[in-house]
Amino acid sequence: SRIPRIVILGAGYGGIVTAIRLQKVLNYNEADVTLVNKHDYHYITTDLHMPAAGTGDPEKARVNILKLIDEFKVDFVKSTAVQIRPHEKKVILEDGTLSYDYLVVGLGGEPETFGIPGLKEHAMNIRSINSVRFIREHIEYQFAKFKREPDRKDYLTFVVGGAGFTGIEFVGELADRVPELCKEFDVDPSLVKIYNIEAAPTALPGFDPELVEYGMKVLADKGVIFKIGTAIKECTPEGVLIAGDEFIKAATVVWTGGIRGNHMLDDAGFETMRGRVKVDAHLRSPQFENIFIVGDCSIVMNPEGKPYPPTAQIATQQGECCAHNLVAAIRGNPLKEFTFVNRGVVASLGRGEAIGVVGNRKFRGWIASVLKKLVDIRYLYIIGGIPLVLRKGRF
Ligand code: FAD
Repeated sequence: SRIPRIVILGAGYGGIVTAIRLQKVLNYNEADVTLVNKHDYHYITTDLHMPAAGTGDPEKARVNILKLIDEFKVDFVKSTAVQIRPHEKKVILEDGTLSYDYLVVGLGGEPETFGIPGLKEHAMNIRSINSVRFIREHIEYQFAKFKREPDRKDYLTFVVGGAGFTGIEFVGELADRVPELCKEFDVDPSLVKIYNIEAAPTALPGFDPELVEYGMKVLADKGVIFKIGTAIKECTPEGVLIAGDEFIKAATVVWTGGIRGNHMLDDAGFETMRGRVKVDAHLRSPQFENIFIVGDCSIVMNPEGKPYPPTAQIATQQGECCAHNLVAAIRGNPLKEFTFVNRGVVASLGRGEAIGVVGNRKFRGWIASVLKKLVDIRYLYIIGGIPLVLRKGRF
């Protein structure tokens, strides 16, 4: 009989781990595996706040996919998927078509703007190597422009929408970068304003309140101005309108306030919640049992019936389970249920500062920032072993 074809869309955390596990476990000629990704590199999304602020090199945050996969076992196709046709078992790429017996959707998330006018058009997002290089250049350019038009204080005003993990980690880096930029461009640091605006009643909702308080104090001491419990009502090319009808003039608005699943899932007729598919216990679409969905495109419920937040940690674990279940399906063995094991959560607050919870222990300050580096190194080790740790690790 014909060899089953597996197509994996997206080489993010979920997709790349699925591919790497499959190439380890599958026997010769047991399946044809094709991995499709927009770029020829995988990126360490959890590090992108650094190159976005200019405190880290974007090169460190990306890894050539051909260094991670064995081309004798997995075909890599650099292309952009444009449509999934689940009834025909086909995927349409910008430059071709792929047929599959099993599909893995690991396309990651897209910014969720909750219908707030102007955010889509005028705010920047931290989501890819291209987007963070743009943000970094944009920030530097504002300092250069200010020197030519010194009455334009809005060039030195930075608004970050959202105080979830991405927003908090980014303002931490930005607050570290500002003094360097002020020196480089001869700008008085007291003219620079960094706002972090969050609609929820607290920063880092769901995180340990004591650590949140500590984190906010660290960031406030670095100059971050928090507006918590304050919704952004509109974004314009000139800045943001916030609750209370205050307008903050700012030439830089970065939106980190939410993510949704890839639009292709909605387009293809999958039942979704904000573009994300609530998968079955084995990580499959409840509508199509040959389609697995991992990472930010999927929703997995915790034992209390609430969705787990979309993270690299859960995407990586889903990738391992997904690969196991693909092999089981091909061999006619029973699939296993996915269970998430929380290995801890650490948020960085810029240089040498972080907050984290591992098990029921809380960490803050220097020790937490070391933990954060260990988490990053562990991931590099999982996907690329010691050589990758040495090339891309931040020590
Ligand atoms: P992603 O990693 O989002 O990758 C999707 C891939 O699909 C990309 O390679 C993309 O190029 C590709 N792709 C997209 N569209 C197409 C297309 N049409 N055709 C082909 N390819 C396509 N999580 C944590 O657990 N811990 C953290 O500390 C943490 N910190 C974060 C910090 C920042 C700044 C950000 C932005 C996120 C952070 N996260 C963190 C969240 C985490 O990064 C995401 O949950 C995770 O990346 C989701 O993985 P994924 O497998 O869904 O796909």
